Amino acid sequence: MKIAMVGAGYVGLVSGPCFSEFGFTVTCVDRDVEKIQMLKAGKVPIYEPGLDKLIESNRAHNRLFFTCDLAEAVASSDIIFIAVGTPGRRGEGAVDTGYVEDAARQIAAGLNGFKIIAVKSTVPVGMTRKLAAIIRKVRPDADFSMVSNPEFLRQGSAIEDFMRPDKIVIGVEDERAKEMMQALYRPLSLRDAPLIFTDFETAELIKYANNSFLAMRLSFINELSDICEATGSNINDATLALGKDRRIGPYFLHPGPAYGGSCFPKDTKALVAAGEEYSSPMRSIETAIAINDARKIKMVDRIAGAMGGDVAGKRIAILGVSYKPNTDDVREAPAMSIIPELQKRGAEIVAHDPAAQKTAEKKLPGVIWEKDALDSAKNADCLVVLTEWNVYRGLDLNAAAKLMRSRVLVDLRNIYTLQEMSKLPFAYHSLGRPPIGVL
Ligand code: NAD
Repeated sequence: MKIAMVGAGYVGLVSGPCFSEFGFTVTCVDRDVEKIQMLKAGKVPIYEPGLDKLIESNRAHNRLFFTCDLAEAVASSDIIFIAVGTPGRRGEGAVDTGYVEDAARQIAAGLNGFKIIAVKSTVPVGMTRKLAAIIRKVRPDADFSMVSNPEFLRQGSAIEDFMRPDKIVIGVEDERAKEMMQALYRPLSLRDAPLIFTDFETAELIKYANNSFLAMRLSFINELSDICEATGSNINDATLALGKDRRIGPYFLHPGPAYGGSCFPKDTKALVAAGEEYSSPMRSIETAIAINDARKIKMVDRIAGAMGGDVAGKRIAILGVSYKPNTDDVREAPAMSIIPELQKRGAEIVAHDPAAQKTAEKKLPGVIWEKDALDSAKNADCLVVLTEWNVYRGLDLNAAAKLMRSRVLVDLRNIYTLQEMSKLPFAYHSLGRPPIGVL
């Protein structure tokens, strides 16, 4: 079976090579010429652990190809995935479906013989059917089946997530397509990954529900951490106990500076927009979004509070700007709101990130970048942990303290224990736990 993956971003560039790892011949297509040139030259344009090796070995086995020529890739494939972006529209809840619609039109033009067109992009309810109509309009003669196959991988652990998924959701409406999708995912169903077959609309809705539920959980935990602080309780003990309840489970119970990334913010808003469109309000998600939006500024106030209330003229070292560890993605990362607000209030920002400096630099003018995390502490008045990269867990805090002008540490990911911090010369502020060393 031959596959074309249209869109070589965080989803397409992982899913494509993973399918080729199963032995399928995969052509990843992108309209970004520079990206395709890089890939052809053996360079990987995004940071995702293990991706470089996966791509290299599948290219060496002649199973993985990169091209800008969509028509050619479509013509030589049996299954064509659409994995292009579906960004949120600024100011509106709705999603920009222009890229998927364009991709569908381009795919339609190249159809020859029976093909499956599978939508991997996260799209509004009803979109798969709409794309079928677009394709039919361009090519009334074409023989094709639509499939909705939303993706659940997480950046930072994307290969493992793809290879060992909790579930594979397939919206399909004819037997031929169902059989081909079963064959395609056979290597994963043999490993007990459940295939959930449903209709297009349910498959599309599942993806939004999945991300919205997780976002709601995070907003709840973030509020819970606030009430822990207010009452002098400890969020870590509370979430440990909550997570032991099998009805709750231990995941997604960590407080943080606000959720971000390319998916949760836009997918929650899209579900609210769907609720409005179908007169079926999603109030729980609306609240989760409002909590999250307000939280970013609250974090700025928190940092200012740790420094006596005013950040003007202070040098603040930010550790981590990606929205989570193990990715270079800064889309909707808390850092993208928190840093400009601190600058607006007069702070000088020094930042470090193990992978995201390149993606963040242009979006964060005025920031001084350090290649070494420890160097960012030099003459700083405050150290702020924004992303829980492992390298910060092992940072030599004694050495950092010696380099700093004032020893204030604001840990917005709770990566350090209260016990260890009680032995260090910092005024230490974390989330949902009592401060240490603060007079
Ligand atoms: P991305 O922005 O990283 O990549 C999209 C790619 O598509 C870009 O390289 C762009 O150049 C290319 N593209 C756009 N139009 C094209 C066209 N007509 N032909 C060829 N290439 C084209 O996006 P992403 O993060 O990979 O997300 C893709 C989709 O998957 C989105 O709908 C997203 O919501 C969903 N999703 C993302 C994640 C994630 O963790 N990033 C997880 C699950 C689902």
